[in-house]
Amino acid sequence: MSEYILEMRNITKTFPGVKALDNVDFKVKRGEIHCLVGENGSGKSTLMKVLSGVYPFGEYSGDIVFDGKVQKFNHIYDSEKVGIVTIYQELALIPELTVYENIFLGHEIKKGRFIDWDETVARAKEMLKKVRLNINPSLKVKDLGVGMQQLVEIAKALSKNVKLLILDEPTAALNEDDSENLLKLIRELKEQGVTCILISHKLKEVTAIADSITVLRDGKTISSMDATKEKISENIIIKHMVGR
Ligand code: ADP
Ligand code: MG
Repeated sequence: MSEYILEMRNITKTFPGVKALDNVDFKVKRGEIHCLVGENGSGKSTLMKVLSGVYPFGEYSGDIVFDGKVQKFNHIYDSEKVGIVTIYQELALIPELTVYENIFLGHEIKKGRFIDWDETVARAKEMLKKVRLNINPSLKVKDLGVGMQQLVEIAKALSKNVKLLILDEPTAALNEDDSENLLKLIRELKEQGVTCILISHKLKEVTAIADSITVLRDGKTISSMDATKEKISENIIIKHMVGR
């Protein structure tokens, strides 16, 4: 088994008039917390969208190897099926639905032809426990704060047996306590074997949590650094980000 759970090679993705990704190489080790950083517009979200099948094969070029297999995803469902779940900045929950409905939305638990609501609530409670969110699963998502909504999204990812969890700027909208709480949870998930890619602008949290750091600039991989052997300073990261 390869030490890498993910290898993306020579990834190029263009939009009309913009080369968003220009031959990007990106590798993530099994079980690590890998931070992806870069200035606005450097291509971070696009790279994660290529990885998760938002842009189908054919709309980008390059290779994706995940968990030992070459993958050509055509839809988000394809990447989720093999255990890749992305949580975007704009949360994907339905505010009017309950927490338990949201967690199993799209992959409902059925008994025969019908949804098994008792089992759904019971499993939702289990998932909430895993993210240490002590709330009634019958609450509506709209009645929760942003920090809690994010934890519900992670609970949903866990209910899909996530192997690689991608968080695109998850702490951007969170206060300090909720951010701390989220970073702690990411570390706990790592202990349970979930690999995590974290996109963040907050270099303090990056240097605190990262096992590896990849820097993108203008759609290119500028550097990939191992943070387990030596501490990577915020200054070095900024230098790579801005190129001077
Ligand atoms: P980041 O997440 O690092 O801020 P993005 O991946 O969102 O960067 O964007 C990379 C580049 O691709 C930017 O120049 C952006 O304007 C462009 N881009 C991203 N998405 C689209 C799109 N759907 N259509 C056109 N251009 C896009
Ligand atoms: Mg982005």
